[in-house]
Amino acid sequence: MTIIDLCRTFSNDDLCRELLERLRWPNGPECLRCKGPVVRLATNANLLYCKDCDYQFTVTANTIFHDSHLPLIKWFAATFIMCESRKGVSANQLRRMLWGKNKGSYKTAWYLCHRIRAAMASADKPMLDGTVEMDETYLGAKQRGVGGQWRDLKEVVIGIKQRNGDLRFFHAEDAKRGTLAKYIKENISQDVEVIMTDELRAYPGAIQMAGYGDVPHKTVTHRAGVYVDGDITTNGIESAFSLLKRGIIGSWHKVSAKHLPAYLEEMTFRFNRRNSKTLFIDTLRHMVTADPLTFEKLTADKESAA
Ligand SMILES: [Zn+2]
Repeated sequence: MTIIDLCRTFSNDDLCRELLERLRWPNGPECLRCKGPVVRLATNANLLYCKDCDYQFTVTANTIFHDSHLPLIKWFAATFIMCESRKGVSANQLRRMLWGKNKGSYKTAWYLCHRIRAAMASADKPMLDGTVEMDETYLGAKQRGVGGQWRDLKEVVIGIKQRNGDLRFFHAEDAKRGTLAKYIKENISQDVEVIMTDELRAYPGAIQMAGYGDVPHKTVTHRAGVYVDGDITTNGIESAFSLLKRGIIGSWHKVSAKHLPAYLEEMTFRFNRRNSKTLFIDTLRHMVTADPLTFEKLTADKESAA
C-alpha cells in the first residue's frame, strides 16, 4: 500500500469505520455486552444497537480509539506513517504532517503515537527457536546528576533474535545472570537448536539457570576482534540494535526510561513485519481489538501506578 492508495481508499471517516467494523467483527457486528445481534440506528449509521441490552455503541468503543475526538482519517494516516517509518517518527514530525506547520498540539500527537504503539505491543509474541542470537546494549545520555557531576545514565536493552525470524527487545534492569535467565526462559523455546552470544561472562550461568543447560551455546569473542566465526555470529541482533539507536537518535530524540519499553515494542513489531504486505491492516486490527489506553494511565508515574 502506498500513501496514494491510503488517501484514495480511506478518503472519509465512513470508509475508515467500515474497515474497522470488518476487522473487529469478521462475522458481522455483535453486542459488546451480550455478543447478541445488533441493528444499525437509522438516525446515525455509526451507532450499533442491541435490543436485548438496550445498549448502543460504535466500532471504536473499548478499543485503542476509545473516546477519541480525532477524525479516523487522521488515525489512519498516523498509523500508516508509523508503519512505513523504519526508524520511527517523532510526535512533532507527525503533528506537522497531520495538522500543518505550527498547528495541532504536540500533546495530541504524542498521545496518538503512544496509543498506536500500545496496539502494536498487544500482538502475540511466539517463542523463538532454531538459531537464536542474544545480546545486550546500553542506551542513554550523559546527565548532570546530584552535585552537578556528569554521570552516565544507561538503560539496558536486551535483544533476542531468531535467525531469519522474529526479534524481541526488552528494557531490563541490568544484564546480570538472573535477569538474562528470565528473558531466556520467557522468550526462547525449549526446542531451540543453538544459542549464540558474545563473551559476556553472565551468559553460560544464565543459560544454565533458565534450564537450557543442554542447549549448545556458542560465543564470539568481540574483545578479541572476532565477530564472525564460521556460522557463529551475533551480527543479526547487533544490526537490529544499530537500527534502534538510529531511531532513538534520529526520530525520537529523547526517549525517557519510562516510555522506552513502548518504543521497543514499536520497533520490534515493525521489524518483524518488514516484509509483510498487510502491516498497515494488521496494525489497525490490533488497534480495534486492544484495550483502551487513557492519557492518565499513560502519564501516571510507574511507582504510583504499580
Ligand atoms: Zn447485548
